[in-house]
Amino acid sequence: MKKLLILLCALVLFANDVNLTKEEKNYINSHTFKCIISTSWAPFNTMINGKLEGISVDFWKLVKKKLHLKSHCIIAPSWSTVLDAIKHKRADLTIGTDITSEKKKFAIFSKPYATFPIAIATKNDVGFIGSMIFLQNKKIAVGKNYTAAQLLKKYFPNYKIIEVENTKKALELVNKGEAYAAIDIMPVLVYNINKYEFANLKIAGKTPWKFQIRFMLSKDNELLVSAINKAIDTITDKQKKEIYKKWIHVTYQQGYSLKQVLLIVFVSFIIIVALVYWIRMLKKEINKRKEIEKELQKLSIIDSLTGIFNRYKIDTALKQQISYSKRHHLPLSVIFFDIDHFKKINDTYGHRIGDKILKEIADIIKHSLREYDIFGRWGGEEFIIILPNTNLLQAIKVAKKLKSLIENHRFKYIDGLTCSFGVTELMPEDNSDSILIRVDSFMYEAKKRGRNQIVSDLNFKF
Ligand code: GH3
Ligand code: MG
Ligand code: MG
Repeated sequence: MKKLLILLCALVLFANDVNLTKEEKNYINSHTFKCIISTSWAPFNTMINGKLEGISVDFWKLVKKKLHLKSHCIIAPSWSTVLDAIKHKRADLTIGTDITSEKKKFAIFSKPYATFPIAIATKNDVGFIGSMIFLQNKKIAVGKNYTAAQLLKKYFPNYKIIEVENTKKALELVNKGEAYAAIDIMPVLVYNINKYEFANLKIAGKTPWKFQIRFMLSKDNELLVSAINKAIDTITDKQKKEIYKKWIHVTYQQGYSLKQVLLIVFVSFIIIVALVYWIRMLKKEINKRKEIEKELQKLSIIDSLTGIFNRYKIDTALKQQISYSKRHHLPLSVIFFDIDHFKKINDTYGHRIGDKILKEIADIIKHSLREYDIFGRWGGEEFIIILPNTNLLQAIKVAKKLKSLIENHRFKYIDGLTCSFGVTELMPEDNSDSILIRVDSFMYEAKKRGRNQIVSDLNFKF
């Protein structure tokens, strides 16, 4: 039990420690490492109030603590001094740089301990930059030979790149309106915007590139690299966040500004309202036109007094039916009838009552015909019925039925009336004129014979 407790305590105490090999431990314990740092790369390594500070410095402190290693740092006057010292092994390491094929020739590298986007800074009034296409034909300021400059030249060689001394100068150009954007590693942009109080500038977007920062060591320090890598692996997200919080106060534009969003919403709303209104008006107009068309069509084929087909429709329907019947060798018959002594009805009861009787007769006939019979008013008090697929005898039967219906009908305003009928069947040599002349002559024959009767091809009186 006692042993278990001791083990637990040891686990808690050394939880933060790195699992090093014997060789790594021996190597670290037997050395005091010399690091060399340039201070001209804020916020990674810089001097603040005479003290070495920065993101890389904080990560280095963490790694040092985790590995319990001894080191002493010297400040280099320039970055080239740092490179030279590593190259000639006058120093063991420097704490923050990226990996390049040039540096790989004389140095070894740890894995990256942090990755940052390469970002775009613009004036505040520029919207979200979601793609590098936005920067086409725009002046872009970058630090001379900086990673951003190299990437821009490689991937967008046609873009208008202005190379300046450092990030501060790039931001100054943007601030003055002499460049549209400045590109650099995000913490560098943010730090410079805050430090030099470029209140007019902001981070407007990210490039597709990332910057990975690592420790660079002189060759022969393989054991230290592997130990550092193990230490990096144990850095928690919480520890990373604390460092970032200290150095990167970014108001990063993820999308559109509120003003832009409101404007877009407002404009979209107006467009939608206008569209809905326009569609409604269009629908109304279409419906109105459809109704007018329907009305016009109806007017062109319907007799306004009786509501049955007019002469025009009968004329065209008769032509169509004749050609159809001939083509399919089907019988076709026509009934033509005229009200007897209708003038007298008008004279006795008045024209208005006459109209009502015309309508009443049309209704009686309409309701006693088959669905495909074509019934219309030929003019005045004359009516016509086209009977498709009907031979003479069948048509005479229909006429008989109609004759008796009319003479037995109890009219609303008059005592009663009769009609005279002509009935004929289509003959092979017929056209619409000849069949109409014939059926009309039969109807007149019926009048002549005393009215209220049917005369047909059979010249037979029913
Ligand atoms: P018949 O038996 O010989 O046919 O005698 P009828 O009086 O019916 O014939 P006529 O041709 O002499 O007169 C037809 C009358 O039909 C004339 C007109 O007063 C009447 N008429 C024609 N069209 C209309 C109409 O639209 N409304 C009304 N009320 N009467 C009409
Ligand atoms: Mg008449
Ligand atoms: Mg008549």
